[in-house]
Amino acid sequence: RAKDDGRGVFRYFEAQMDFEQRERRMLEQEMRQALSDNEFEMKFQPMISTQSGHVACMEALIRWNHSIRGRLSPDEFISIAEQSNLIVDVGRWSIKSACNTALTWPEDVKVAVNISGMHFMRSDIVGDVRQVLEETGITPSRLEVEITESILIDNNGETVTKLNGLRALGVSIAMDDFGTGYSSLGYLTRFKFDRLKIDKSFLMGMEENENRKAIVYAISALGENLNIDITVEGVETREHVEFLKTIHCDQAQGYYYSKPIPVSEVPAFLLRTFSEAISTRSPATIKG
Ligand code: C2E
Ligand code: MG
Ligand code: MG
Ligand code: MG
Repeated sequence: RAKDDGRGVFRYFEAQMDFEQRERRMLEQEMRQALSDNEFEMKFQPMISTQSGHVACMEALIRWNHSIRGRLSPDEFISIAEQSNLIVDVGRWSIKSACNTALTWPEDVKVAVNISGMHFMRSDIVGDVRQVLEETGITPSRLEVEITESILIDNNGETVTKLNGLRALGVSIAMDDFGTGYSSLGYLTRFKFDRLKIDKSFLMGMEENENRKAIVYAISALGENLNIDITVEGVETREHVEFLKTIHCDQAQGYYYSKPIPVSEVPAFLLRTFSEAISTRSPATIKG
C-alpha cells in the first residue's frame, strides 16, 4: 500500500515536471518569435544626480507585450531565457534598443542596460557590445552596463578579462543589486567598478529594521572611500529621501522620482527635470 502511494506521488511530480518543461519550451519558442515580431519594449527609469537634481542616466527595463499572455515583466521570462542561448539574443536586443533610443536624447544623458550573468559568461559579451557601439554610433561613454555579483562567484580570470575588455571599449560598468549576492567583497580589489547600485531591499526594509540603514550607510562609505559612485535604488518615500541626505550617495532611483516610463514620455520628462531640477528637499514633483 505504502509502495502504491509512493508511486502515485512520484507520478504526480513526473506529470508536474512534464507540464513545467512543456510550458518552458513553449515560452522559449514564443520568445524567439517575439524577437522577430517586435513584441519586446524598453521602458526607462531615471537615475537622478543628487548633486544637480538632473537626470544623469536612464535605465532600460525590458517588457514583453505578449499577444495572448499580456504584458510580462522580466521576472516572468528572463530566467527562462537564461536556460538556453536565447538570453544572448534577448541581451543583444536590449543593448541595441537602449542605445538606439539614447541617440534621440541629449548627449549628457546616459543609458544603462542590464546584462544577464548568463549572457556575460556564455557569449563574447565584449564583441556583442562592440558591435552595438559600431552599428549605432553612440558615444561609448554614454553606455553603462549593469551586471550582478553572480558573474564573480567562480573566481576565474576570464570574468575580469571580459570586464577589462568592456572597460576598454569606453563603456562604464555598474554592479547591480549590490549587497544581495553571495560573493565576497574581495572582488572589489580585482576590478574597479564605476558604480555600485545598492539593492532596493535595503531601503524598503529601512523603517522596520534599523540594521538595513546601517548597511546602506556602510556601503555608501565604502563607495566614497574606494572612489566608486553609489546609486541608491528603491527610493519611494520622503523618509527615504531624508535618509539619503545623511549618507554619501551620487544618484537616487525609485518610484519617488518616477516609475519606468515608455520611450515616448522620456523627452517630456527630461525637459521638465532640466528646467526644474528635481529637488531632493521637496515632495515628489514628478509622477511616472
Ligand atoms: P533591476 O535592474 O535591479 O531593476 C530594478 C527593478 O526594480 C525594476 O523592475 C524596477 O521597475 C523596479 N523598481 C524601480 N524603482 C522601484 C521602487 O522605488 N520600488 C520598487 N518596489 N521597485 C522599483 P523590473 O523592470 O521588473 O525589472 C526587474 C529586473 O529584471 C531588473 O532588476 C533586471 O535585473 C532585470 N531586467 C530588466 N530589463 C532587463 C534586460 O533588458 N535584460 C536583462 N538581462 N535583465 C533585465
Ligand atoms: Mg538594473
Ligand atoms: Mg537592482
Ligand atoms: Mg563618490
